[in-house]
Amino acid sequence: MNRRDFLAATGMLAIGGAVASIPGGCSAISGSDIKTMDIKESYDAQVLVVGGGPAGVCAAIAAARQGVRTMIVEQGGALGGMATLGLVAPFMTCYDTTGEQMIIRGMFEEIVDRMVALGGAIHPSKVRLCSPYTAWITDGHDHCTPIDAEVMKLVLDQMCAEAGVKVLLHTALVNPIMSGKKTAGAVVLTRGGLEAVKASIVVDCTGNGDFAARAGAPCEFGNPQTGRVQPATLFFHINNVDSRKLEADVESKLHTFRKIDGVSHRALHWHVEKAIENGEWDIARKSVNIYKGVRDDEWAVNCTRIARVDARDSESLTMAEIEGRRQIRMIMDFFHKYVPGCEHATLMGSGSTVGIRESRHVTGEYVLQVDDLLNGVVPEDSILLASNSVDVHGRLSDNSTEYITVKNGRWYGLPYRSLLPLDVENLLVAGRAISATSDAAGAVRVMPPCMAMGQAAGLAASLAVKGGTTPRDIDPADLRRLLLENKAFLG
Ligand SMILES: Cc1cc2nc3c(=O)[nH]c(=O)nc-3n(C[C@H](O)[C@H](O)[C@H](O)COP(=O)(O)OP(=O)(O)OC[C@H]3O[C@@H](n4cnc5c(N)ncnc54)[C@H](O)[C@@H]3O)c2cc1C
Repeated sequence: MNRRDFLAATGMLAIGGAVASIPGGCSAISGSDIKTMDIKESYDAQVLVVGGGPAGVCAAIAAARQGVRTMIVEQGGALGGMATLGLVAPFMTCYDTTGEQMIIRGMFEEIVDRMVALGGAIHPSKVRLCSPYTAWITDGHDHCTPIDAEVMKLVLDQMCAEAGVKVLLHTALVNPIMSGKKTAGAVVLTRGGLEAVKASIVVDCTGNGDFAARAGAPCEFGNPQTGRVQPATLFFHINNVDSRKLEADVESKLHTFRKIDGVSHRALHWHVEKAIENGEWDIARKSVNIYKGVRDDEWAVNCTRIARVDARDSESLTMAEIEGRRQIRMIMDFFHKYVPGCEHATLMGSGSTVGIRESRHVTGEYVLQVDDLLNGVVPEDSILLASNSVDVHGRLSDNSTEYITVKNGRWYGLPYRSLLPLDVENLLVAGRAISATSDAAGAVRVMPPCMAMGQAAGLAASLAVKGGTTPRDIDPADLRRLLLENKAFLG
């Protein structure tokens, strides 16, 4: 592609003109001299990973370790996505349904082991269900992994450096560069302006399918049946907690945990009820999911709840961030006034981004179904095995939760085909936006399977580059062999 074709393919030749032609016009803009932006052709990668969350970082490291020139672009200031920028914790289970065998291994296990060695995680073998580390939740929460976000940032930096991944933080995707239906790279917004990254294969790990949607892959938004997305949550962490008192309070009330009309009444619901009576709680939750962290007095709190957030829309996200912070203030006041052990709790920090449970699902060669998961289906082209439960928030009402565990078998498989979007070549999607129904995505969106699918996507991209073919045309059997060589568990 010559420079002009390359820029034409980016859709960026006349960015100023595009702004001026907003339907209906905008007098303040149309009369002004809007400067066009040059795009520097700055980078030439074989594999470009867009989004540095759990899926993206594993994709990039996996590809680079195969000797493929790999670059990752991330809009935030650290790798790790929701685990670091969003302060989401713990890693959900990586074990089978019996709780006997660790089944998500490979790069996930390597990251956990490195974090444990630095005191930044508790190994999942030591964490059992219905404990403070699982917010005393039983179903699907055996063998979670409590984590320290700061240690995770460090470990991911180190692993990328060792593998030779070119990392570019503070860099957001603007547009795909296309050659017909094939991806050819991306235009990104760096601190220096617009820059182009050429790449033979792109792995979309934005969580929202930003690249795939803009490249023309078919997508669904949320649940098309209900027209809703799962609610968003701004996570936060507290410390200075007298954990002995808090644990004693909750453990004396475990027998009162229950579900009423689809709404969970779990940890601290007895205090939330009082706060509601006193007009001091207006959050669409009846209890508090509070997960003990790596250090004894620290806890991660998954409790704010903001309905109908559209992650494609900055105005909607802005509203969610502000509302999340308002709710955190209310929950901190609640801790101080009502919860034994939390009288002097300190807000350590909230996520630097609100947590989005659901936005786009990119339609791929196979759309993962809830029945596949609940029935323990393991397709021939499975790239990982997982047992994570179907976790759907907010479908029955704003404060409902549905949590359905696998009925048949110890695990289910995730087919490689779910990582291959329709209509666009040389593109893989890994992480939250893979091809799955809204409900099935509610199971595999948690971090251990996202890391495993990232590793698989990175290895698939490396096979395509080395074989001079496309991700759609590689043999899934070769990918599975490579996954096994790289310590993944496939049964
Ligand atoms: C409230 C909440 C609670 C959760 N609880 C748990 C839990 O307890 N345990 C668990 O294991 N999982 C949990 N999850 C799920 C899990 O955190 C996410 O689904 C998972 O992190 C998805 O991984 P990902 O890599 O696909 O996306 P993300 O973690 O979202 O990472 C995507 C990355 O891409 C970057 N990015 C996005 N768009 C662009 C762009 N245009 N340009 C450049 N970069 C971009 C983002 O900044 C981000 O770093 C929870 C999620 C939420 C929202």
